Amino acid sequence: MEIDLSPVELPEFAAGTVWLVGAGPGAPGLLSLLALHALKQADDIVYDALVDKRILALARPGVRRHYAGKRGGKPSAQQPDISNRLIELARQGKRVLRLKGGDPFVFGRGGEEAQALEAARIPYRVVPGITAGVAALACAGIPLTHRDTNSAVSFVTAYASDGGLPEDVDWESLAKGSRLLVIYMALQNLDKIARRLMEAGRKRDEPVVIVSQATLPGQRVVETTLENAAADAKRAGIEAPAVAAVGRTVRLKRVGL
Ligand code: SAH
Repeated sequence: MEIDLSPVELPEFAAGTVWLVGAGPGAPGLLSLLALHALKQADDIVYDALVDKRILALARPGVRRHYAGKRGGKPSAQQPDISNRLIELARQGKRVLRLKGGDPFVFGRGGEEAQALEAARIPYRVVPGITAGVAALACAGIPLTHRDTNSAVSFVTAYASDGGLPEDVDWESLAKGSRLLVIYMALQNLDKIARRLMEAGRKRDEPVVIVSQATLPGQRVVETTLENAAADAKRAGIEAPAVAAVGRTVRLKRVGL
């Protein structure tokens, strides 16, 4: 079925420009119409490991694909190389689609790419996507905010480029000030984070949910507690990509369809 997007009045994907597009958490149904429009027009797609094959399959025939992922056994592309590739392709007059998992500006280095494009005076557009933290909780049936539990939510990454916890995150303040934490790249340092949060006063039996492969056929949801989170994730054989959420709100989990 070919979808007629003409009534939606989407902007033109001009030659020589780059679109930084969020592909959403995985399931193709969660793509935006603007992302679909970009897939149908792009000459070149530079995509990450977390972009689902079924989404790439929506691109127009003849599109050139460039893998820029950092997983999957292939050598990892360096960030400056990716930005330079985008600039080079745009200068060749291509419509360049930079397709990233989730939202391009949430823990995905989209900001660095935008800076590089701006410095090179390449016109670019940012197309937001549904970020994994939002999608994962929705799929697990947990509201991100609820008047009974939390009016604020914190998105935080648990992983710095050196493999440790990011230095600019003040876990003690988060523990005290944020009732719901949604943690990206959670698996590797889950034990450390849980310890920091408990040291700062969060309860050992506080509910935690870990959602891997959210929205994809392999989606898994593990319910646990702060004290047992790392061990339970390991025991359940949970693999990346996964987000963890910590807070009383997790108890509001409801099973929908
Ligand atoms: N820009 C992306 C995040 C990139 S960082 C976004 O907005 O979603 C990669 C991390 O995102 C993963 O380690 C994991 O924590 C999370 N993630 C991405 N896709 C996911 C999925 N389908 N299910 C669970 N977590 C996911």
